[in-house]
Amino acid sequence: MTTIAAISTPNAAGGIGMVRLSGEKAIEIADACFRGVSGRRLTSLSGYSAAYGQYLEADGAVLDDGVAIVYRAPKSYTGEDIAELCCHGGLFVTQKLLRRVYALGAVPAEPGEFTRRAFENGKMDLAQAEGVMKVIAAQGESALKAAGNTLAGSVSKKIHAVCDTLVSAAAALAAWADYPDEDIPAVEHGSLREALQKAAAALTKLIQNYDAGKAVTEGVRTVLCGKPNVGKSTLMNLLSGCEKSIVTSIPGTTRDVVEETVRVGDIVLRLSDTAGIREAGDEVERIGVRIAKDKIEGADLVIAVFDGAAPLTNEDRALIDLCRGKRCLAVINKTDLPRTLETGEIEAAFDTVLYLSAKDDAALDTLGEALSALLGAAGLDFSQEILAGERQRRCCENALGYLNDALAALDAGLTVDAVNVDIDCAIGELLTLTGQRASEAVVNEVFRSFCVGK
Ligand code: GDP
Repeated sequence: MTTIAAISTPNAAGGIGMVRLSGEKAIEIADACFRGVSGRRLTSLSGYSAAYGQYLEADGAVLDDGVAIVYRAPKSYTGEDIAELCCHGGLFVTQKLLRRVYALGAVPAEPGEFTRRAFENGKMDLAQAEGVMKVIAAQGESALKAAGNTLAGSVSKKIHAVCDTLVSAAAALAAWADYPDEDIPAVEHGSLREALQKAAAALTKLIQNYDAGKAVTEGVRTVLCGKPNVGKSTLMNLLSGCEKSIVTSIPGTTRDVVEETVRVGDIVLRLSDTAGIREAGDEVERIGVRIAKDKIEGADLVIAVFDGAAPLTNEDRALIDLCRGKRCLAVINKTDLPRTLETGEIEAAFDTVLYLSAKDDAALDTLGEALSALLGAAGLDFSQEILAGERQRRCCENALGYLNDALAALDAGLTVDAVNVDIDCAIGELLTLTGQRASEAVVNEVFRSFCVGK
């Protein structure tokens, strides 16, 4: 196994920077470019020890000073020997130190290679590795808590419990089917059914929690729609706390689609402002309109904005139509002005209708609460296990599909073999989730999106 090295701190100037090495020669290479003030060599240090000293160039010139930390296999993040060389956090200094360890025999780490080695050395499973990614990407308290739980192994534990249920069911079924002459008790239809249903219920809950939690952990693809001048840009600026869109009182001037991630309470919205859905003659405006329609189709959530101080128009009605069947929130804006909007059609079409003024900061609380309720995030318990990402969700969903097939086969009175094939496939999906039976391609895919140095 090669010894890998990378800068593990962000690619920006900061107080401290860190070059991390992992592999057989990690400590030896670190020692070759380090002179401790105590005179002790890094190679003589036991695991979890730190030494202060100077990093040296090949000719003995001092490159920087800092603290070097030594971890000994297998008690380290990767399960291998690790040296973490902390230096001053300038971009140039960390780069120089990295080049120095390359010159001494370390090779550049691939994205996520430290975590991949941790996975390959059995320090964590694939679900936990994805938890690491989510911790890094977390944008809020709840997201961090959820990711931390995955990292700590809560999802893996849940999946193992489901797997155990299925393995026992499959084993009992197989034994009974394979040795009909032996005195093996017949697998009772009812108890098998119960076991499969229990497993299916656990997976359904994981999927539901993930979908609701996604609003917090990954952000909801949201589109703000409404005819020109209803206050979309004002609302967007209120949400983002800064002037991002072009706010103007001339109808139709917000032409570009501006995308932005904002946090409202604990909900993360991935917002795009649009040019409205007006069927305008002007070419630029028309492109905006087409984009708005496409965006509504591709969005997880539509915030439909109406002007409370203007009568309902056909453009508003067109928006109401476009929103049918989508997860939507209607906003009647400009409540600080006298109401001239007849809201009956809107109230009839949308489950949630909010009355607010985008010019008033208090609207943020109203929006936060409504979003939380609408997206099912209210009351979500992030100390529970929450799947870390679409891959894990897909595995659960596939497993659930097989379990439903198994239940159907059972009810249809099909042979034990047929039921067992489905149970086996479900187990396969769950083992892919944890990485115990994941193909090289799956593992590559998981680590592809990691950052270098993690
Ligand atoms: P957009 O075309 O939908 O993006 O609308 P804008 O955000 O550009 O707003 C159009 C006009 O309505 C601007 O003059 C805003 O200042 C005004 N406006 C937006 N929200 C409110 C509100 O809650 N109350 C009042 N009185 N004016 C508002």
